[in-house]
Amino acid sequence: MNIFSFHQASDVASAIALKHSSPSTRYLGGGTNLVDLMRETIEHPDTLVDVSHLSSTIEQGPDGRLSIGAGVKNTALAANDIVRAQFPLLSRAILAGASAQIRNVATVGGNILQRTRCRYFYDNAARCNKRESGAGCDALEGFNRYHAILGASQSCVATHPSDMCVALAALDAEVVLDGPEGQRRMALRDLHRLPGDRPDIETELKPNELITSVEIPSHSFGQRAVYRKVRDRASYAFALVSVAAMLDVDEAGTVRDVRVALGGVAHKPWRALTLEGRLKGEKATAENFRAAAEAELADAVGLRDNMFKIELVKRTIVAVLEELKGEKA
Ligand SMILES: Cc1cc2nc3c(=O)[nH]c(=O)nc-3n(C[C@H](O)[C@H](O)[C@H](O)COP(=O)(O)OP(=O)(O)OC[C@H]3O[C@@H](n4cnc5c(N)ncnc54)[C@H](O)[C@@H]3O)c2cc1C
Repeated sequence: MNIFSFHQASDVASAIALKHSSPSTRYLGGGTNLVDLMRETIEHPDTLVDVSHLSSTIEQGPDGRLSIGAGVKNTALAANDIVRAQFPLLSRAILAGASAQIRNVATVGGNILQRTRCRYFYDNAARCNKRESGAGCDALEGFNRYHAILGASQSCVATHPSDMCVALAALDAEVVLDGPEGQRRMALRDLHRLPGDRPDIETELKPNELITSVEIPSHSFGQRAVYRKVRDRASYAFALVSVAAMLDVDEAGTVRDVRVALGGVAHKPWRALTLEGRLKGEKATAENFRAAAEAELADAVGLRDNMFKIELVKRTIVAVLEELKGEKA
């Protein structure tokens, strides 16, 4: 049995100070991922600092920018009136994830920092460079249907499992971080790292930094949004691939603006910047959508069991953009 102590932080400063007190201290949101990992003896914190109640408001500024406390529950965020009306992509992505019971306790901060669902990461008998740097990766030659096709390395082919983060990446969200050296902010799409030769270092967070909120700028075409998740079961399953997209097409049928992010394909939510650059100013046709998807996936590499994902994600991109181009402002 692993003995650990539990603290409920009274404010951000005391949470950071408590975390600083021991290297194996972990922040605790809803615990739906961390407690599982403790049960499976993958994580062994000696102290848990509950931060789930520290920041649980959703506020919109006069410029339309939405600020979401890191402690906001996934259910509350998906059901929020402003989110549903102005940022439906976010609401839809959250509702595509996990189950109602899990979403009721899972927090925004915890969702962003949830660990991969790679089965070799969860199996203490398997080799995993994420658990033990330099140990090797049994997923490379193992069952790798759910694994990465973009930005992976010989050290790690795991994917980031969050649906919510895919929408946040498409929406140009920023995370607000508080730490011993003060507050800073970072684009969500820069927070998670590609694995390289250190897949155990998963984010750009500095030691003891706490996510305190997430901010999303207003988008003039935010209502024209689709989140499509392709999975093995209709519910309660992680994505094989997912596509979060927003599209703005003018009267002449030309793409004025577009945002696309992909899930289930990489160690991080994958913002499709190549695709976006290719499409802006072009006609919104299936041929152009396909050509842009081809360009985005040009460097994709499949493994034994997930080669199909490369074509699947291209087709999903085209289907989603085709659906969106018909929608009116
Ligand atoms: C059966 C099952 C199915 C699921 N299916 C899906 C799915 O389809 N799609 C999907 O997206 N997710 C899915 N999930 C994952 C679920 O969304 C996550 O477990 C949940 O979002 C994690 O949030 P939490 O608040 O419980 O995090 P916790 O478990 O409390 O924490 C997760 C990590 O974040 C850290 N942390 C928490 N809050 C902060 C903070 N404010 N600042 C810094 N670090 C912090 C913790 O230290 C820990 O490392 C599933 C989970 C389960 C168990």
